[in-house]
Amino acid sequence: MSALTVSGLAVSYGAVAALHDVSLEVRQGEIVSVIGGNGAGKTTLLKTIAGVLRPAVGRIAADGRDIAGRPSWWVARHGISLVPEGRGIFGDQSVHDNLVLGASARRGTVSAADIERALALFPALAAKLGSPAASLSGGQQQMLAVARGLMARPRVLLLDEPSLGLAPMLAREVFAAIQRLRADGVTILLVEQMAVQALALADRAYVLERGRVILEGSAQTVRENPAVIDAYLGRRV
Ligand code: ATP
Repeated sequence: MSALTVSGLAVSYGAVAALHDVSLEVRQGEIVSVIGGNGAGKTTLLKTIAGVLRPAVGRIAADGRDIAGRPSWWVARHGISLVPEGRGIFGDQSVHDNLVLGASARRGTVSAADIERALALFPALAAKLGSPAASLSGGQQQMLAVARGLMARPRVLLLDEPSLGLAPMLAREVFAAIQRLRADGVTILLVEQMAVQALALADRAYVLERGRVILEGSAQTVRENPAVIDAYLGRRV
C-alpha cells in the first residue's frame, strides 16, 4: 500500500525552477532513497512534501489524501515528519526535552512508551537524557534529530542528508540506526549524497539530476546502472 505518492511535482524559487515533473512513490514499510549531487533538488523535494514550500503544480498524496500546498504543521499532524538537513535540534535543551518537543507535532501527550521506543532504537541517547543536546557528538545529534522526528509517530519519516557533516565512522552509525528503524517498521524517504550507503539501505531508489528523476527502480537495479556507477559510486576495478 502506498504511504506517499508524489506526481508531476514542479517547484520554483521565483524564476529558478528547482523541480520538474517529479513523481515518486513510497510504500508502507519501505526505505526509498533519492540520490543526487549538489543542487539536484533533494532538499526542495522533501521541503515541498513537508509543506515548507508550495509546489507550482503537482499532487502529493499521503494515505490517499492530497496534502500538496498544506502548511507544514498540518502535514506534520497528518503523519509526515521531516528531519531537516542541519538537524534543527535545540542545543541548550536536554535530550529529553528535545524528544518531548518532537511529539508536539501531533495531538496528545508524550507517553513514556514513546521515549522508551526512541531510546531502544538509539541506545547512545539513553545515558545522555538529561544532558544538553549540544554536548552530544555530531552522530548522536543526528540520531536525536531522527528520534525526535519519530516522536510524532509519523506514517512517513523524511530524512534530509542525515550523514551531512559527519566523519565516516559516525555516518556509518547513523546509517546503522536507520537500518534499525526499518526493522521497527518505519516507512522512510531518505535523500542522500552518500549514494553507496543510501542504496545499500534502500528497497527502491530514484536518481535526481537538475530537478528531474532520471532513473528509478529497485535499489539493486539503480546500483548496477552504469551511469550511476560512473556518476555516484565510482568506477569498479
Ligand atoms: P544540496 O545537496 O546542496 O542541499 P539539493 O539536491 O538538496 O542540494 P536543493 O537545495 O533542493 O538541492 O536545490 C535545488 C536547486 O534550487 C538548486 O539549483 C539551488 O540553487 C536552488 N535553490 C535552493 N534553494 C533556493 C532558494 N532559497 N532560492 C533560490 N534558489 C534556490
